[in-house]
Amino acid sequence: MAHIPGTDRSQLLLLPEVVDDYVGPDNAVRFIEAFVDQLDLKIAGFARVGAKATGRPGYDPADLLKLYIYGYLNRVRSSRRLEAETHRNIEVIWLLRHLKPDFKTIADFRRDNRTAFRQVFREFVVLCRQLDLFGREMLAVDGTRIKAVNNKNRNFTRSSLATFVQEADAKLSAYMARLDEGDAGEERPAGGHPGRGDPKLAEKIAAIRGKRDRHKEMLAELERTGADQISLTDPDARAMAAMTKVGVGYNIQIAVDVKHKLIAEQEVSNQVLDLGLLAPTVKAAMEVLDVEVIDAVADRGYFKIEDIEACEGAGITAYVPKPIRGPAVREGFFSKEEFRYDVERDVYDCPSGAVLSPKYFGKSRDNVKIDYANRNACKACALKPRCTKSFRRVSRLENEAVLDRVAARLAARPEVLDQRRESVEHPFGSIKQWMGQGAFLMRRLENVRGEFSLTALAYNVRRAITLVGVQGLIAAAKA
Ligand code: SF4
Repeated sequence: MAHIPGTDRSQLLLLPEVVDDYVGPDNAVRFIEAFVDQLDLKIAGFARVGAKATGRPGYDPADLLKLYIYGYLNRVRSSRRLEAETHRNIEVIWLLRHLKPDFKTIADFRRDNRTAFRQVFREFVVLCRQLDLFGREMLAVDGTRIKAVNNKNRNFTRSSLATFVQEADAKLSAYMARLDEGDAGEERPAGGHPGRGDPKLAEKIAAIRGKRDRHKEMLAELERTGADQISLTDPDARAMAAMTKVGVGYNIQIAVDVKHKLIAEQEVSNQVLDLGLLAPTVKAAMEVLDVEVIDAVADRGYFKIEDIEACEGAGITAYVPKPIRGPAVREGFFSKEEFRYDVERDVYDCPSGAVLSPKYFGKSRDNVKIDYANRNACKACALKPRCTKSFRRVSRLENEAVLDRVAARLAARPEVLDQRRESVEHPFGSIKQWMGQGAFLMRRLENVRGEFSLTALAYNVRRAITLVGVQGLIAAAKA
């Protein structure tokens, strides 16, 4: 028996002549069209919204924006591939009404309107808010790292530069010594052999010296600017923590509404750690969600007293578990959690039942730090081998009550930590696996922010289509 044969290519077919007939009523492009058409692109910050009075007419930014939204929804991010889609993809032909901008026009549009994409992302959040897709009660905040257009070999930290300069100096000294030996050999009268073992020694020395000087200049620049890294290809990108396996990249922050796992706010920064990013991310989300108070849950990486204090001041009830860290933990001694603070008495009760009172006052960054201790009790304590080498000091910040409140909240609602994980895993998993978000395509922080706004918008659009369907979204956009 033969396989299914297909149709003869020269066969005349009675295909529909109207492009519109190829695009079904539930096709996402119909929503993209409706959504972009109701946006005020001028207010959003797009360039060249009004057509020029003279000269060659340009493309309407609305058409190029539709192309980008379609592309990010369908794993097509590069301008060359988007151009190709305008020629062969019936959905794009429908969406762009047969327009075929070249890749340079497409790329320039993304670069020139990088800040406006964030506003488009926010407009879609507002649309979803109107559809009641946001619970607006709890946000899960998390960060991920995405690779930048910057090879690891073209990123330098102070310590890597200092090590390189040190090693280059050592190498130069060794070469110079060999050169001196060679020169001494040259003075030997008989034999005619100059004594230089390596004829390219001078060249090697010049190359190392040049490289060392360039590294020294970079080190001096870091000293001058106070920065801690230099990236040569994308100056804004930073080497991320080794465990992220990203190498050099950017730190992506998202605030996800736990009701339907939609992204309420997103931001790209080049800060290596998440510390200090909780309050700014949630405050921006509150603005777009139009709420005065909200709960926010994040992982240990966000545990910073100043940030949690800022949350309280902004109407954010933060849930952040305390990291188990510190010199005592590193040495295998009792952690601070095993000491119970008594607010009334302002003392710590230690694991052996002794009372530690405030003894030493100092500073930790901008906070007053008080050390609680009881030297005499430690001297005679049977638990001392598990607690300290001499006598134990337990530090407490003057404003640490804010952390006690967080701990009490978490103890009352431990399930919010699982809720956090489930909520943030969905967008990050979808963006990286399903949407194929690889390395960023553009350089510089502002460009990358524009790129990620499109990615987050595409994730939200896809999610909202699953929740209310294309027709539901079109109706809301046109309302
Ligand atoms: S060593 Fe000092 S602080 Fe530690 S358990 Fe004993 S008495 Fe308490």
